[in-house]
Amino acid sequence: MGHVPSVGSRLNSTTWIVDARWYYATLAFLLGLITERNVESQGFYDAALFAMYGAILVLNGFFHFVIRDPARTEQLSKHVNSLNMAQIGLDLLFFLVVTIITGSGVESIAHSFFFIPIIVSTILFGFRGAITVAGVSGLFVLITVLINYDFFAYLYATARGFPTENPAASGLLWVELVKAGILFIIYLMTGFFGGYISRLMRARDLLLIEQIEKSEQQVAQLEALTKEFDHSAKLLVRRDLELSNANQKLTQLDQMKSEIISVVAHQLRTPLSAIKWTLKMLVDGDVGSITDEQKTLLEKGYESNERMITLINDMLSVDRLESGKFKYSFVPVQFEELVSGMIEELLPVATQKNVRIEFMHPEKDLQKIKVDPDKMRDVLQNLIDNAVKYSNPGGVVSVRVAEEDNMLHFSVKDAGIGIPQDQQEKIFSRFFRATNAIHMQTDGSGLGLFIAQSVVKRHGGRIWFESAEQTGTTFHVSLPFSQ
Ligand code: ADP
Repeated sequence: MGHVPSVGSRLNSTTWIVDARWYYATLAFLLGLITERNVESQGFYDAALFAMYGAILVLNGFFHFVIRDPARTEQLSKHVNSLNMAQIGLDLLFFLVVTIITGSGVESIAHSFFFIPIIVSTILFGFRGAITVAGVSGLFVLITVLINYDFFAYLYATARGFPTENPAASGLLWVELVKAGILFIIYLMTGFFGGYISRLMRARDLLLIEQIEKSEQQVAQLEALTKEFDHSAKLLVRRDLELSNANQKLTQLDQMKSEIISVVAHQLRTPLSAIKWTLKMLVDGDVGSITDEQKTLLEKGYESNERMITLINDMLSVDRLESGKFKYSFVPVQFEELVSGMIEELLPVATQKNVRIEFMHPEKDLQKIKVDPDKMRDVLQNLIDNAVKYSNPGGVVSVRVAEEDNMLHFSVKDAGIGIPQDQQEKIFSRFFRATNAIHMQTDGSGLGLFIAQSVVKRHGGRIWFESAEQTGTTFHVSLPFSQ
């Protein structure tokens, strides 16, 4: 089956055809009315003409009002096909009667009316409908010719046994039949072309509908996407707000923490300094002589106190580093002097531990280097002190300063406990201490290298090491002469 137009469009074209029917049915009726009657059973045909015109008017009237009533359209849409078929059937019969009355076959101009139902069925029922109606129309025209030539009366009489003249004998009937046959073919061709055109149009309609549906789908998809985007954007904005709030809170907390550390550390430093000087006076015998045993005990106390001061200083440094309060002031210095000064400071510790520090001076004096001397001293102290601390008694620590590739190169080498391979990557993290170091030297903050790395980086330099457990460690620092 060909494509049947949708209910909506069928209703639409039906309305249109119903309107047209008033005119063409009336025209056909008038034609039948004014034509000179040359048909035998005139009375019968006249009655048929009026009856059918009346029937068409009634049915069309029904159609006319029902189709315009929105409440009934729904109901009607189910029967619209049958109603249309009935209308077309009635039209055909009506035209049959009018054609008979107006001279039959091609002699009557009424045969032109048959084109109307052919076209109408093309619109309403497509290809098959058009061909069927064309066939029926052709058949009707043939019938009118046969009626006109009393063919059916002849058949009837012959069947009854009355000898009657055969209308075909004159030859005129044949001529008329051929003419009607040609009309038959013209109807069929009209139906065929009409059906063909309607198919083309429907295919185009379908294509259009498909495209529209596709576009609608795309629009719907786009709308959904837009909504989703909108939603995500709102979510992002909310998250962003939450994050900045959280961040603000964290910054506040961090600030509070930093203030607490700073206050506590400063508060601790003052009494610790007092203890330091008191112990020193006692150890030095400034307030009277003490026994050796007392001296040893006081010295231990003094050392512990010193360690506590170092720890607090380290903590303060880390806090200042992280809060950005660590201020640098760079001045040109003779780096070797900085190093030998530090070695001198650390000699007592080394001697106590029976570790020898050797200093390999550069071959000739180096150019001055721009550093923050206090901070750089902290770095040197930490590295040399560590080398001594983690050396075995009797060991040697070699400190070296040289110029290499336009950079100042400083290194501290020891033959101590080394850093276990699996912990080497964490060595610069704050508070990190290798397991072997904890075993050997219980005190230590794990902050020294963290601070040293930060200071070296701030000088545009680099710090690294190579180490093997039980063999020794070498720390390297390279610094640019000017930044
Ligand atoms: P601390 O020495 O106070 O523990 P540092 O930050 O100076 O803290 O050093 C961190 C860790 O690095 C030490 O605990 C130790 O495990 C390791 N380390 C540093 N220098 C040496 C070294 N010369 N030999 C062996 N281990 C070292």
